[in-house]
Amino acid sequence: MTEPFIVAIDGPAGSGKSSVSKQVARRLGYGFLDTGAAYRALAWHALERGIDTSDATSVLEVMGDFDYAISLDPDAYWVRVGAADVTDAIREPRVSEAVSGVARVPAVRQAVNALFRALVAASDRPGVVVEGRDITTVVAPDAPVRILLTAAPEVRAARRSAELAGEDASAVAAALHKRDASDSAVVDFLTAAPGVEVVDSTHLDFDQTVDAVIGVIRTNVPAQTGAHNGR
Ligand code: C5P
Repeated sequence: MTEPFIVAIDGPAGSGKSSVSKQVARRLGYGFLDTGAAYRALAWHALERGIDTSDATSVLEVMGDFDYAISLDPDAYWVRVGAADVTDAIREPRVSEAVSGVARVPAVRQAVNALFRALVAASDRPGVVVEGRDITTVVAPDAPVRILLTAAPEVRAARRSAELAGEDASAVAAALHKRDASDSAVVDFLTAAPGVEVVDSTHLDFDQTVDAVIGVIRTNVPAQTGAHNGR
């Protein structure tokens, strides 16, 4: 079985990474893997168990019975922990606040990275768009297409508050910058590693960003693969 073609996309919160990656996958007939969902689901699981998510030992303990599943279908996205559908629950602010704590535990990162590689290898699509913070550098450093999707901090904060209608905009911005600061202590997703192409979406709308990413994919794809004729 041939391994799917990997498009690795990293970027900070609010860069449009998830929605853009999902749409790129749809247009190319690829799978879509949201890696942040695994960290969020583990944070959700830890909160359900009432453990302190800033304590690495406790996080590792709950990792033992973390039964995680995610869909790679961009048209039917869901995330489960055991029998619970946590697709919406993992976006709650309490989970966003706790997630950096679990993501900083090295053994957690190793375990989820192995899971990501297995999920990609098992995909029956010709390619998979994998998005996160360390995909271009750690999870799939050899991917044929590696992109860092950025946007100015104020634009990212504005996009995130638009997504979380009903929440106070300044609180959303503060939470986003705090999470970026904690996360960037673990992985550097604000500067592109050598060979990683930057797509800055500050002045692009959603469709333009999708087109820009597809443009990068097209210029990097060896013609003989033939599976990358997105509309
Ligand atoms: O992408 P998203 O904002 O859903 O990611 C949630 C969290 O998961 C991030 O704030 C970060 O702590 C962690 N994460 C990570 N490495 C990845 C993806 C996400 O550490 N590849």
